[in-house]
Amino acid sequence: MTDPTRAPSAARSAGTLGDLDALVGSCRACPRLVAWREEVAANPRASFAGQTYWGRAVPGFGPADARILVVGLAPAAHGANRTGRMFTGDRSGDVLFAALHRAGLASQPHAVSADDGLTLSGIRITAPVHCAPPANKPTPGERDTCAPFLQRELELVHPQVAMVLGAFGWQALLASLAASGWSIPRPRPKFGHGAEAVVSRVDPDTGGRSELILLGCYHVSQQNTFTGTLTPDMLDAVIGRAKALVGLP
Ligand code: SF4
Repeated sequence: MTDPTRAPSAARSAGTLGDLDALVGSCRACPRLVAWREEVAANPRASFAGQTYWGRAVPGFGPADARILVVGLAPAAHGANRTGRMFTGDRSGDVLFAALHRAGLASQPHAVSADDGLTLSGIRITAPVHCAPPANKPTPGERDTCAPFLQRELELVHPQVAMVLGAFGWQALLASLAASGWSIPRPRPKFGHGAEAVVSRVDPDTGGRSELILLGCYHVSQQNTFTGTLTPDMLDAVIGRAKALVGLP
């Protein structure tokens, strides 16, 4: 059994996505984030009183053959850190899953708990940091510690497009990719709604070359959706572009 404080170093040996997800769920490599996620879990919001929080690292969610990977920054303290599933149980997720359902990529428009029956097709949701951080701000060291999980997820899923939610997620993804040996264009591509950039990597073992298209999207946060910075039409357009890039109807 892998030492939970060293789980990221075992990511490379995860043979399947299920193995990787289990490894992520067991991870205790970042002391500050482990303490925070468990403190939040022990002190539920009044509206969630009586619920048992997940309080652990949150694996990615979605099928192994997904051509599109949605990348946030990290789980929300009272969202995914409570439900155990990415973007599930918070207002951001309400907006995201409704849009994915409109696009035919989610089986239902709501995501309230890990056992609500929701399934995704063609798309998977993950984050460069798998534990809820204080103030939604992981440190660069925590991001780099978590990077092997993302790298292995990319190897196992082989997505063609990463739809990145928000500037912080964009920067964190680029840093995680750089830490995993991906070539990032210089100057570094800037985040923007609808921005596109291509990154690539040569596998040191096989010599095989992988490419990934990054596609920027304003974050589905209440701050953006309540103010009209991100409208449903804008979100639908980016998801439509992602589908077109991977050849989905
Ligand atoms: S952020 Fe990543 S590396 Fe750190 S404890 Fe959570 S899962 Fe492990």
